[in-house]
Amino acid sequence: MTSESLYDYDIHDTKAMKEEADMKVIIVGGVAGGASAAARIRRLDEAAEIRIYERSGFISYANCGLPYYIGGVITNEEELTIQSPESFRERFNIDVHVRHEVTAIDPGSKKVTVHDLDSGRYFEDSYDKLLLSPGARPTEPELKGLDLPGLFKLRTVEDTLAIHTYIQEHHPSSAVLAGGGFIGVELAENLCQLGLSVTIVQRPRHLMNTLDPEMASFLHARMKRAGIRLMLGHTVEGFEAADPSGADSGRIHMLLKDEEPIDADMAILCIGVTPDTELAKSAGLELGTKGSIVVNDRMETSAPDIYAAGDAVEIRHRVSGQKAVISLAGPANRQGRIAADNICGGNSHYPGSLGSSVIKVFDMTAASTGLSEQAAIKAGLSCDKVYLSPQSHAGYYPGAKPMYLKVIFEKESYRLLGAQAVGYEGVDKRMDVLATAICSGMSALELKDLDLCYAPPYSSAKDPVNMAGFMIDNIKNDRLRQYFWHDLSELPRDGSATLLDVRTPGEYSRGHIDGFINIPVDELRDRLSELDPGKIAYVICQSGIRSYIACRILMQHGFDARNFSGGYGLYAAISHDEMLAEKVSACGMVKD
Ligand code: FAD
Repeated sequence: MTSESLYDYDIHDTKAMKEEADMKVIIVGGVAGGASAAARIRRLDEAAEIRIYERSGFISYANCGLPYYIGGVITNEEELTIQSPESFRERFNIDVHVRHEVTAIDPGSKKVTVHDLDSGRYFEDSYDKLLLSPGARPTEPELKGLDLPGLFKLRTVEDTLAIHTYIQEHHPSSAVLAGGGFIGVELAENLCQLGLSVTIVQRPRHLMNTLDPEMASFLHARMKRAGIRLMLGHTVEGFEAADPSGADSGRIHMLLKDEEPIDADMAILCIGVTPDTELAKSAGLELGTKGSIVVNDRMETSAPDIYAAGDAVEIRHRVSGQKAVISLAGPANRQGRIAADNICGGNSHYPGSLGSSVIKVFDMTAASTGLSEQAAIKAGLSCDKVYLSPQSHAGYYPGAKPMYLKVIFEKESYRLLGAQAVGYEGVDKRMDVLATAICSGMSALELKDLDLCYAPPYSSAKDPVNMAGFMIDNIKNDRLRQYFWHDLSELPRDGSATLLDVRTPGEYSRGHIDGFINIPVDELRDRLSELDPGKIAYVICQSGIRSYIACRILMQHGFDARNFSGGYGLYAAISHDEMLAEKVSACGMVKD
């Protein structure tokens, strides 16, 4: 090798290294996925040129905190914006352009067109790697009146400030929300706490489609108790100004199908979100479910050197294996990190989403992970379930609160499919344990073996998650046979079966299901002769514990006994939207 060629080689190599070192990354969308990716790229590659274009006026803002700013829980606007373009530049040496919308991508020439929303100027910028994290926009069906001044949506800090300012200036006394998902429920609570009279209207018959209807009924009760009017099973057809002359500019009529309109001082459209993928579509990227961007597990799109993350992408559901769109901050942040690793030459993979989520509803918490029962059935899975109503910690230690826990598993294989819980304390902890169990591929039978921490202020020696495992183990070994709330209407009431309520006479007299006779569990052994062992016994108590004990007595005396999973408490919640019992005593120790 001549010195010249050596020199050429060195020059070339240095140039290649320099090109690699000076990789230029453009990121579209500077919030959950985009900002996470940008910071990670910088941590991996000090030399990369990183530029974020963000359409709104803020980056890395706390979407999840927006409803709480409206409600006055978060009082300082600055708390919502975790980073500013300046702080991002200072900390990470990242070039951030807010109020800049990327309007086109040319994957062939690796260029984007950018619209500076303040100056109106359009310009081009080039990239080596492009990451799209444009999120999801509020779903806006083709309804009349969506541009009315008293009608809002909630996605950005600007939307939040608009709602906040409207409330400050117009002092509305009522609000009507179209949609009762996460954002609708959080907004309802926050507006209610500001003193507004709040109505939620939606077509589905229960709030929060991540929950099965019977679990959502506890939230219905809590919201109604707070004075929120729930109009479930009603269809919104549009909006009209209540005063077409414009004198009372904000007041609005929500138009309903085949019903009188609802009149309110303001309205918010929160019927769900849709991946914001017009840009990706016009660039010719492959789109999937609900128009989301198709990515592989390295977060690579169908175009070379273009990555995508967050609410805009299609993911694989970790339980069903099906393609899905899940709009949550945790997945968006993790996907942004994975895209960043791969942009920087790494080899990170996204395993899919479980959709684990949690929401505060006044003093209650509702959480879920994996598939709901409804979603599992829709996915073609054959599932079984247990309900239990444990306390948040040992009943003898002050302050224990009830919760309802539902664990869904596949019949035969006992694969864990999902779980949901509603209660006051310890709900998120149980859901996180169950989410971890699902992620690690544990079977529902293994829940009984989980070695979880315990002291009376925190849990019970048999944690609710262990208890679910014990119940599922009993099902497998035919020590527990169950029937459910949806079986009640089909139970034989012609005398061919025994319908038995084993609560105390006092509990029974305060409310029971038609056709059920009362023999308290503690009297059952002495009164077995009153029952016909030839008939199936359908047994119920308040929570499912005493009825399980009764079933064990009956089964060991030759009866075919079935336990009502979830107990009368669940039945009452479903049939009357009743709250969880607020005063609890140790399971099975209820006295009149
Ligand atoms: P986003 O964080 O939405 O960021 C996308 C950004 O891209 C936007 O700011 C948008 O302006 C910008 N953008 C879009 N197109 C362009 C373009 N062409 N050019 C430039 N910029 C563009 N999730 C939870 O897990 N828990 C919660 O409690 C929770 N609460 C929420 C409450 C509210 C009110 C909202 C709106 C969302 C909530 N979420 C919650 C959802 C969570 O915020 C999102 O899942 C997450 O932010 C998605 O991240 P992303 O990066 O995909 O999109």
